[in-house]
Amino acid sequence: KNRWSLCGTTALVTGGTKGIGHAIVEELALLEARVHTCSRNETELEKCLEEWRNLKFDVTGSVCDVSSREEREKLMKSVSSIFHGKLNIFINNAGTFITKPVVDCTAEDYSFIMSTNFESAFHLSQLAHPLLKASKRGNVVLISSIAGTVALPGLSIYSASKGAMNQLTKNLACEWANDNIRTNCIAPGGILTPMVQPLMNDEIERKIAASVPLARMGEPEEVASLAAFLCLPAASYITGQIISVDGGFTVLG
Ligand code: NDP
Repeated sequence: KNRWSLCGTTALVTGGTKGIGHAIVEELALLEARVHTCSRNETELEKCLEEWRNLKFDVTGSVCDVSSREEREKLMKSVSSIFHGKLNIFINNAGTFITKPVVDCTAEDYSFIMSTNFESAFHLSQLAHPLLKASKRGNVVLISSIAGTVALPGLSIYSASKGAMNQLTKNLACEWANDNIRTNCIAPGGILTPMVQPLMNDEIERKIAASVPLARMGEPEEVASLAAFLCLPAASYITGQIISVDGGFTVLG
C-alpha cells in the first residue's frame, strides 16, 4: 500500500471555500481523497465546487453553519449518505475571530466564538465518530491557532476556544485510539487568508515579519500540506499532537 496516497479515502473539511480550508480540500483531492466540504455562503460554495469539477477533483459540498447544532447534525447525515457511513478524515477547520479587550466582550461575542470554534469541533467530532470507526482507519485534524497557547492582544475568547481544541485533541487521541482513529491538531501562526486580509497593511505586515524567524506570514498551502500529511499512512504513529505552522513565531525568545 502506498504510504503517501489517500487514494480510496473519504474526507470532510469544514469551511472549504476560502483560506486554509480551501487549500486543504485541494491538497487532499490531489492525494486522491474524495472530499466533502461546507460553508455558509451557497454562491461561493457552488463557485468552488464548479472550479474543482473542472480540475477533476472529487469534491461535493453542503451549505452549513457549523455554529448550529441542527445544521451540524444535518451535515453529518449528508456526509454519511454520500460516503456510505464511512469517513476516513475529519478536518475541523471552520472558525472565526473577534478582537476586543476582555472587559468589552458581550455574552453574544462569547457564544458566537465558542459555538463556531469549539462547540462545533466537539460536536462534529462526536457525530463523526461512528463514521470514522466504521472506516477502520480514521483521522481527526483540528485547526486551532498559536493563540491557543500564547496571549495575543484582544483575542481572549478566540484563544480560549483554541486552547480548548488543543486539549480536546489529546483526549480524543486517547479515547479513540482503540477505534484506530488518530487525532492531531495544527496551530497556525499568521497565514494570509481572507480572514486576516482586512487587518493587513504594510506596517502590520512588517511588524509581523519582525516577530517571525522566517520573516514573513504563511500561505494557506503551507498549512494544508501538514493537514494532509497527518492523515497519511506515513503518519501512522503520530497522535495527540499539537503542531505549530508559524514560521518559528512561538519559539523566538
Ligand atoms: P477564512 O475566513 O479565510 O475562511 C474560513 C472558511 O470557513 C470559509 O470558507 C468560511 O466560509 C468558512 N466558515 C466560517 N464560519 C463558518 C461557519 N460558522 N460555518 C461554516 N463555515 C464557516 O479563515 P482562515 O482560512 O484564515 O481560517 C481557517 C481556520 O484557521 C480557522 O479556524 C482559524 O481560526 C484558523 N487560523 C487562521 C489563522 C490565520 O492567520 N489565517 C491563524 C491561526 C488559526 P463562509 O464565511 O461562507 O461560511
